[in-house]
Formats: sequence, structure tokens, C-alpha cells
Amino acid sequence: MGVVDRRKFLKSLSLYAPIYLTGCSVLRHYDVCSDCNPLSLFDPSKKPKESESQTPHDTAGAEDMGEVHSHEELSVQELSDELLKDAQAKSLYFSQDFPDDIFFHGEKYALVQAMAVKFRLVQRHVGYGNFNVIGMDEFFLLSERIPEIGGVSSKEKAFLEELFYFDAKKYGFLGDKVFISFTDSLKKRELEKVPYTGHFLRRGDSLEIYNKISKNVGESITLTSGVRALAKQFHLFLEKAIDTKGNMSKASRSLAPPGYSFHGQNDFDVGKKGFGLRNFTNDLAHTDEYKKLLDLGYIKIRYTKSNVLGVRFEPWHIKVES
Ligand SMILES: [Zn+2]
Repeated sequence: MGVVDRRKFLKSLSLYAPIYLTGCSVLRHYDVCSDCNPLSLFDPSKKPKESESQTPHDTAGAEDMGEVHSHEELSVQELSDELLKDAQAKSLYFSQDFPDDIFFHGEKYALVQAMAVKFRLVQRHVGYGNFNVIGMDEFFLLSERIPEIGGVSSKEKAFLEELFYFDAKKYGFLGDKVFISFTDSLKKRELEKVPYTGHFLRRGDSLEIYNKISKNVGESITLTSGVRALAKQFHLFLEKAIDTKGNMSKASRSLAPPGYSFHGQNDFDVGKKGFGLRNFTNDLAHTDEYKKLLDLGYIKIRYTKSNVLGVRFEPWHIKVES
């Protein structure tokens, strides 16, 4: 099979990955599974059937570790040199390695692993829901208080700060920064816990839009991730970096690096009850709940299929202007 050139690639995009307009109820989709259809790269005649829709491989970790696991990917060896540098190609082939991806090796990767364990332990200690809303100062304090952790060393703190202030554009993530300072935290009095979800939303637009969605779409829709402070985003990102074996760029294609997540402001994720981790795959876009969501007309998806931010399509992620 030959190399896919830019013209063919863009043609394929226009055929099968249409621009998602806000409130547009016309839904078309195109999923490709590298495992099920390894040779079907951009061959329109090999468009997979509905029944070939995939489920994620890895269900470990559950909860909203989701924004992460999916094997809807295409074979990278078929891409031309030009496409390998293309942000839009990266968002489509999000789970592949690209030649200019940034990797953490050796000591840096060991720090990723060590810190992931500490975030995990603090989360276990404070509870899943509360962990969503703690800032870094609180995280350091808790790390000292929990004997099992024994604090965070100055070297580890310096690593986390370096990670926070690193320009994510170098990873290939082109979204805006939301938290400016490493010590930025959320004002807990502005937040409200959403019953039965383990998540919080900011009062005002966020909570109002979520309540409206619940009312309009019905009981089968739920909040799968709400507001997230820095400790949670660090944790998710480090776990993702472990999944990608230290490929920080690949991690950033599925999850905003710490400081860059709009979950730090008003955005939130919704999913179908009982759908598990499939809520964080393209499978969500094939559900009645998602179709109803788009039909509401007031919903905006932050990372659309056509986004040029170097981020994969996230049908679950609701954009709420701040
Ligand atoms: Zn999200």
C-alpha cells in the first residue's frame, strides 16, 4: 500500500471526519481500528461496519482515567513525512508515536513513575471525589502527613514545577494555559458536589448547563468528570505518560498537560450511564445520548474532530466559556 499524501489525507478527512458544528445534529463518523483493520488506512472502500465499533483494551483504573484509553488508531507507517508533522494528523492518529515526539527517559521517567505513585496514594487517602479539587500546596501537605508517602523531595518538587512551566507547544499540544501559577488552586466555596458522581462543578454556567443537560437528555446521562485542580491533572497526565512509556507528546494528545486543562475552569465531561470507559472513546459519539446532546443546540464540544490543537476528538468534553 502506498504512502498517503496530503491531498488524499485531506480528502479522507472531508469525507469521513466532517467538521462538527456546534448544535449540528447531522452526525457522521468514521472509526478505524488498527487491530481489527490493520490494512484499511484511509481506503474509503474499507470503511468499517457499525458492528466493528470498538471497546477499549484496557479497563484498569476505570473512573475518569478514561480520556485516555482507546485503540481507535491508524497505522503510522503509512504516513508521509509531511503528515508526520501535521497537527491535524496527530490529533487523528493520536495514539501513535511521531518522529518529533518528546520522550522522558531514565531519571525523568523514574520521576514520572515515582510521582504517579504519590498522587495515587494521596487520592486513596483523601477520597476520589475530594482529590479532584486539591491544589499543589495541599497535595504537598498531605504527602507529608501520610506516613506511607513520607513527603515529596525537593528534587521531585522541582521536577513537577519544571513539568508545569514547560511550554506544552513543544509536545505538540497547542491549547491555551488555564492555570498560570504552579500554586494556583480552586476556590472550594465556588464549587458544588454533584450527587452520585464523585465530581464537582463550579456554580454558575457550569452547573446550570449540566443541570439543563440532565433535564433535557434524561437520566441516562451522567457527569464523568467535573472541575479538576492541579493535583488531579498532574496525576492523570503522569499516569497517561506511563501508559505511553514516557512519550509526553502522545500523552498530551489524549490529555491536557497540567495547567492546560479547561477542567480547571468550567468545562466538564458527560457520558452514558453504564457505558464505562467507552464514554471516553469515539463510541460515545454513536450513542443516542450524544445525538440528543447535539440536538439540544446549546452544547459546544471543546475538542472537535477537526480541531487543530493536536488533541484527539473528545465527544464527551463539554466546553463552557469562562
Ligand atoms: Zn474532559
